[in-house]
Amino acid sequence: MQNFNELIARTVDFKPGERNVFLHLLTQCNLSCRHCYINPTQHGTTMLPTETVRQWLRLFARPERESNLILLGGEPTLHPDLAAIIRAAKALRYAVTVDSNGFLFHDLLKRVRPVELDFLSFSLDGPDAAVNDPIRGKGVFAVCTENLRQAVSLGFRTSLICTVSALNIDHLHRMPALLTQLGVQRFFIQVIGLRGNSATGGAENLQVDRAGWLEVVPETARQAARLGIHVTYPKVFLEPGESFSCAGLAAENYFVFPNGRVYRCPLCEDYPIHSFCIENSELVQQQGLNEDRFFNLSIPEGCVMNKLLQSDNLDYLPDGSLKHRISCCMLKQEMRP
Ligand code: SF4
Ligand code: SF4
Repeated sequence: MQNFNELIARTVDFKPGERNVFLHLLTQCNLSCRHCYINPTQHGTTMLPTETVRQWLRLFARPERESNLILLGGEPTLHPDLAAIIRAAKALRYAVTVDSNGFLFHDLLKRVRPVELDFLSFSLDGPDAAVNDPIRGKGVFAVCTENLRQAVSLGFRTSLICTVSALNIDHLHRMPALLTQLGVQRFFIQVIGLRGNSATGGAENLQVDRAGWLEVVPETARQAARLGIHVTYPKVFLEPGESFSCAGLAAENYFVFPNGRVYRCPLCEDYPIHSFCIENSELVQQQGLNEDRFFNLSIPEGCVMNKLLQSDNLDYLPDGSLKHRISCCMLKQEMRP
């Protein structure tokens, strides 16, 4: 019998050859979450035409091996052809996840079969309406949980993303019980980033400090794993002796926006410093001072972009030395049941 007290977090190292394509089909959304990371000034307001999506899927596909495709927005289910896009992606050997806010427009559950989709992911930022709705909008908890229940009952594999901030961290410990009740298989705990609304003054600083994060997140992950849920959460802080690695160098991640910008680092998405642009269905390397120039820089703090963009995350001792280093935002820890 497994001793649950021994459940420990495992760092998920970047796997050579693993390819993750985060494709934003559109930037429009029916919600306006307080911490929304979408920035229409940088990424436009276009909804990608289906034929363009097909071309871009071919551009990033590697027929010799499976790649991970995450379809997102905005709200991706607002795209009227999402079902056809999912099928086109599966035909190109992508493992496909749809990240939805839970509204599931255009009857997605009726137009796609569970076998055609690897994961349907829902976003919820609290264990009840009283916590979730002030962050994501009035009535959102009820709609999202009802659609999640329906998806589970139809046989879809589901995951849930919770973005942790000062607004909900005190309630995070109640999420595992809700996930069990809903039948969710995977739980992604996410750290709030300084992007979109959080960066442009649309929201106050909602970031959680190191002590608060470490006190709550690993224990909540352990509780969820005890209940049989596979949990993933960002590493955020490196322990002494742990090595630093930048996903921009060590992994193949592409964050693709409907205006054709392609980033390798999500922290850079608020700035026109993308590594590539899609032009005439070709991936064109951008010249000049772009994000990829920063990936090679080595600094004691760890992640260069974090130091430049989110320096409040760093703590120094009176002698000027670092209290801790910051990991790549793409480095995850996981706890499995
Ligand atoms: S965070 Fe997601 S669901 Fe919320 S407003 Fe932004 S795109 Fe929509
Ligand atoms: S978050 Fe930092 S370490 Fe990770 S890809 Fe971006 S620049 Fe590199």
